[in-house]
Amino acid sequence: MLIKENLLKIKSTLPENVTLVAVSKTKPISDLMEAYDAGQRIFGENKIQEMTEKWEAMPKDIQWHMIGHVQSNKVKFMAEYVSLIHGVDSLKLLEEINKQAQKHNRVIDCLLQMYIADEETKFGLDENELQEILTQVQQEKLTNIRIVGLMGMATFTKELNQIKEEFLYLKSIFDKLQLQPKTEKLQPKTLSMGMSGDYQLAIECGSTMVRIGSSIFGGRK
Ligand SMILES: *Cc1c(COP(=O)(O)O)cnc(C)c1O
Repeated sequence: MLIKENLLKIKSTLPENVTLVAVSKTKPISDLMEAYDAGQRIFGENKIQEMTEKWEAMPKDIQWHMIGHVQSNKVKFMAEYVSLIHGVDSLKLLEEINKQAQKHNRVIDCLLQMYIADEETKFGLDENELQEILTQVQQEKLTNIRIVGLMGMATFTKELNQIKEEFLYLKSIFDKLQLQPKTEKLQPKTLSMGMSGDYQLAIECGSTMVRIGSSIFGGRK
């Protein structure tokens, strides 16, 4: 019952333009179903195999978001059904997503992950790499991917000022991206930033999609 209460409470505080991804990694299907029964239809997972098992077992009107780091050789396992891939950080990965999407005759939405934290363990692109990828994407015949925005993770710290600076930096890149000419392949509208500990701040800084796990489902081991 707590899951439903947590979910509804968080949802009631989100502005209308902000989408909630319920991050259900490591949690059993019974927990996810509790959120589903409370109306949640977007779930985020960070392991392709776990996400696929849940996709197979659960109702088909769920949108599955891959929020973790993606290895190219595993894209094929989610290409049939994944709804949004948050962590795209190379042209090679985009090419593989495109190839696998083609096999299923669909277009897969992707977010490019930007490096905004000062932590070596986090993945992502800098602004130059972002521009390089965008240029390449326009030149190549990638008909089965669509870049719909950016994703970023702030430093794991209690320093709210630092987190805010990192979020505002990501928002500024997002704003610049939106000034670029829109094409079939580039339609930026989503800025995925904010987790349980910092989503309110992220929304203040312009987030349109928050990825919330532990505040809904409780802590993970
Ligand atoms: C686990 C995870 C989250 C959710 O984290 P919580 O602190 O539990 O809300 C969000 N984004 C990514 C990329 C994650 O891996």
